[in-house]
Amino acid sequence: MANPRPDELVFVPLGGVGEIGMNMAAYGFGPERSRKWIVVDCGVTFGGPNEPGIELILPDPAFLEENADDILALILTHSHEDHYGAVLDLWPAFDLPVYCTSFTAAMLTAKRASEAIVENVRIRPMAVGKPFTIGPFTIEAINVAHSIPESCALLITTPVGRVVHTGDWKLDPHPVGGQPTNVERFAEIGNDRSSPLALICDSTNAMKEGQSPSEEEVSVALDALIAAAPYRIAVTTFASNVGRVIAIARAAQKAGRRVVMSGRALHRITGIARELGMLEGIEPFLDQHEYKTLARSKIVLLCTGSQGEARAAIARIAREEHPEISLNAGDRVIFSSWAIPGNEREVIDIQNLLIDRGIDVITRDTAMVHTSGHPRRGELRRLYELTKPAVLVPVHGEACHLEAHAALGSEQGIETVVHARNGDMVRLFPNTTNFPGEVRVGELYLDGNILCTPDESGVKGRRRLSFGGHIVVSVCVNASGHVVSGPDMVMEGLPDVEDDDESLSDVVKRSVNGTLKSLPPKRRSDPELVNTALTRAIRSEVGSYWGRKPNVSVFVHRV
Ligand SMILES: [Zn+2]
Ligand SMILES: [Zn+2]
Repeated sequence: MANPRPDELVFVPLGGVGEIGMNMAAYGFGPERSRKWIVVDCGVTFGGPNEPGIELILPDPAFLEENADDILALILTHSHEDHYGAVLDLWPAFDLPVYCTSFTAAMLTAKRASEAIVENVRIRPMAVGKPFTIGPFTIEAINVAHSIPESCALLITTPVGRVVHTGDWKLDPHPVGGQPTNVERFAEIGNDRSSPLALICDSTNAMKEGQSPSEEEVSVALDALIAAAPYRIAVTTFASNVGRVIAIARAAQKAGRRVVMSGRALHRITGIARELGMLEGIEPFLDQHEYKTLARSKIVLLCTGSQGEARAAIARIAREEHPEISLNAGDRVIFSSWAIPGNEREVIDIQNLLIDRGIDVITRDTAMVHTSGHPRRGELRRLYELTKPAVLVPVHGEACHLEAHAALGSEQGIETVVHARNGDMVRLFPNTTNFPGEVRVGELYLDGNILCTPDESGVKGRRRLSFGGHIVVSVCVNASGHVVSGPDMVMEGLPDVEDDDESLSDVVKRSVNGTLKSLPPKRRSDPELVNTALTRAIRSEVGSYWGRKPNVSVFVHRV
């Protein structure tokens, strides 16, 4: 009896491939229809102006739910929100272990505590260089440099082939406060020709030539800027970039300044880093209530708000609304960060407020105060050389990044380059094939406390209201069709211009009264008919007056 169904290794991107954010992928092994699955990462994306009121967007786990009985575990590469932000919302439903390093585990635990969530996921420790087995998969975490501690690439070994899932990485030979990328291990993996290898690789900076500058270069620049500043210095950065925090703290120490810290995320994350022994040799940070006790030349303020968040420290300081911290003309503010697309305007507004007050603002445009945590083309080429993959699947990027990465892979002679998108089923081994759109994918919105599909959320209505405003009209008619009270009305979000001959509310009143008058009394006693007639009339008359169609709700009561 022959075995007609051979074992296959498949890769299914469920988020993050064709978009930046909400990374989640499944790897399946076994014959078609009886595969075992592991999931790598479970991230979120942040809602933008197109999703008013939505803070977080999560990948729809429909495909995982369909295969819930055959899923074995979730493995997290690192604790950036776009890789682990959805764990506490999505993973409890599966009741399966989550493998991650100590830092990621501590981040998950701290997040759970801050959101007052009870223990809802089982965390299993994962250490670099210590392979472990989950069903048919052997997994080894490999240290990579990135912009948060303990970022890992994963080597996933199965009987038909291997995968290096890079997660987010760069080839920084001199990171601050962590180990460099383990290039020796990647070279060993490449030299092992016993089974074919697929590289599932970060595409974020695939359109940029060269190498991402090292964290060391940033730390040299920060040293100089902090040493030369005559008065106070405030630095804002990503709270999770512990290496950067270390560089700032070292620069402060060298300049004989104390670090005052402001912002909950910074306190939380540096607390974790200190507990895990990552801040050795760094003096304790002072709390913001000590700010006023220090001389202007003896202080480095480390604060949150690098993305222009209105309630974060730097925004409140810029608006002179912070209860304990103020800056004066001649002080220096360093934005050791970049604005994530969508946040640029808010960040520039804060910088302008500071500049207008005579404060010296330094950004990555004027000094080497920030570097990306993702590989540029030179680093991608180097990883291909090291790992010698038979198959490349560009992930972690929008279409433009993915296709630039794919072209680079082909140019460098990788035999099979897969152009995948969310929802594709990619058979990696044997016989690499992409089956586009084979599985269900999508987004879930976290709307307040409610997790729902975009259709179930109120977003569509909110968008409509934001353009058309809302007019509510209420009128009572009696059995003989006479108006006994009203019309009463409320208008929200419509222009209200005083000195016009006829205001918008006059137009609504005229339209309501005119329509009621034009209906014969018999028809006027039919609430539904009156409702339709009024809605139509208001929309049309306000529409021609305003040049836009408002949203209209009419209530007709029969008494
Ligand atoms: Zn990351
Ligand atoms: Zn990422």
